[in-house]
Amino acid sequence: MATPQENLLDWLRDAHAMEQQAEKMLKAQSERLEHYPELKTRIDQHIQETLNQQKLVDGCLSRLGGSSSTLKDVTGKLMAFGQAVGGSMMSDEVIKGAMAGYVFENVEIATYTLLIAAANAAGDAQTQAACEQILPQEQAMADWLLEHLPKLTEAFLLRSASPDLEAKK
Ligand code: MG
Ligand code: FE
Repeated sequence: MATPQENLLDWLRDAHAMEQQAEKMLKAQSERLEHYPELKTRIDQHIQETLNQQKLVDGCLSRLGGSSSTLKDVTGKLMAFGQAVGGSMMSDEVIKGAMAGYVFENVEIATYTLLIAAANAAGDAQTQAACEQILPQEQAMADWLLEHLPKLTEAFLLRSASPDLEAKK
């Protein structure tokens, strides 16, 4: 058995590992993007949000006396999808990257939604407030990616059909 506080601490560690993965994936995407400036700008904005989210989660962890140094294996495996499609071997990497980003943001949405409920159950108002601050940023990023996917696809197809243009990034 485990107390609500122990489960909360566990899930906060998962969130911390997830945000480290988010930073890695977003930075890798941003660094490679050349021909899709709107997407790059939105990703760069979310990198800044992600760094702030890491600080917020870190603050909750240290307040609860838990270390954030242990990367949990399960989260690493869950996030491997994001890394796999972040590879540069694909001729449509910008499209696969946007898809992976959308999947990742939805994992984050689920994570902070459950953390809010867990923090509430554990009577931890500060953790609840931190997660309530982060959740709308993940929702906004997921919404943006989905909304812009048709336009991104059109831009990709146009470049892809031209013999002189690079389309993949
Ligand atoms: Mg995040
Ligand atoms: Fe995010």
